[in-house]
Amino acid sequence: MGLVVQKYGGSSVADAEGIKRVAKRIVEAKKNGHQVVAVVSAMGDTTDELIDLAEQVSPMPAGRELDMLLTAGERISMALLAMAIKNLGHSAQSFTGSQAGVITDSVHNKARIIDVTPGRIRTSVDEGNIAIVAGFQGVSQDSKDITTLGRGGSDTTAVALAAALDAEVCEIYTDVDGVFTADPRVVKKAKKIDWIAFEDMLELAASGSKVLLHRCVEYARRYNIPIHVRSSFSGLQGTWVSSEPLVRKTQQQGDKQVEQAIISGVAHDTSEAKVTVVGVPDKPGEAAAIFRAISDAEINIDMIVQNVSAASTGLTDISFTLPKSEGRKAIDALEKNKAGIGFDSLRYDDQIGKISLVGAGMKTNPGVTADFFKALSDAGVNIELISTSEIRISVVTRADDVNEAVRAVHSAFGLDSDSDEAVVYGGTGR
Ligand code: ASP
Ligand code: MG
Repeated sequence: MGLVVQKYGGSSVADAEGIKRVAKRIVEAKKNGHQVVAVVSAMGDTTDELIDLAEQVSPMPAGRELDMLLTAGERISMALLAMAIKNLGHSAQSFTGSQAGVITDSVHNKARIIDVTPGRIRTSVDEGNIAIVAGFQGVSQDSKDITTLGRGGSDTTAVALAAALDAEVCEIYTDVDGVFTADPRVVKKAKKIDWIAFEDMLELAASGSKVLLHRCVEYARRYNIPIHVRSSFSGLQGTWVSSEPLVRKTQQQGDKQVEQAIISGVAHDTSEAKVTVVGVPDKPGEAAAIFRAISDAEINIDMIVQNVSAASTGLTDISFTLPKSEGRKAIDALEKNKAGIGFDSLRYDDQIGKISLVGAGMKTNPGVTADFFKALSDAGVNIELISTSEIRISVVTRADDVNEAVRAVHSAFGLDSDSDEAVVYGGTGR
């Protein structure tokens, strides 16, 4: 029996009852013979409440102080959890991210982990303790200041610790039974996925699926740490995310077993906006100038589409999508460079949504694309932008159409379950 790292999200430790329930589950793993390291998030909506509080005293709180404030949320839950475990007759010790050896760069509010030196955690579990670690936080290598890893960062803490401790698995406990073929909050007939490859999970996360953060999956893939996403509310097996199919998906067809459909799931995202640069001269260097201005402003973009130019004018339009939160910055950056780039005007649209179908082998299967578009058209959904990769097709539509579109595509690809409805135990999907 090896070491397991378990991570419990905010909705799992939302109140005293939740903390006691989680304590029992951790003790269970310990009784089964595992060494256990548990990473916790802040209770319920604590992080949001702390941010709110900070904004009441200062409209633009200093990054260093905001990090100091937010890390308090995880300290509360780690200490309470250790107490609850002791109350069950087992020994537990809690550690801050810094004490656990989570070393980061010095970018406040979205620091990256650069090293993990879990000496104290190792000693603690070797002495027979259950180690509880505050998620989402670390300490800067250079400044020695306390940092946070960005919203939802506890998952990354868990995977990073699992890698550094050579854990056999990183279990991520959340408020749904695993990774579903679509957001169970939107598609009642979404099915739980038993196993999904790192690559497909990365695409789902990049396409708006909130169950695991992209950065966490990236980290797990780099160090080849299997993730088991499961509910802390039910005792069910969840979803394995790994490089190898630990659970093989097969289907009976006639008298032979065949691999199940290649489609992993449908993801959606309504957090993006679309910028259209209107009246761009159709000559070399224009796109370069536009996206240089955007990149100089440190804005990450997602899809790009350039329209065919009208022969009579020699002008074209270029549209791209980006996080809504970056919209203002992008418009400012382009306006500032208007003379150099040479365009007529800018249009900004934040009422868009993105729907993505993810699965292996799409490129070699043109029928998938056709079926995807057919499903959207049958649902009366208009497509505004399209982009594809080896294992994904995404379209942009009106935000209002997104839920309908997700359900239509989910049905069209035979993903609807005919049994139990997907259960959402609480929380917001994060
Ligand atoms: N408490 C932090 C947040 O809400 C980190 C986490 O939940 O993973 O973003
Ligand atoms: Mg949280």
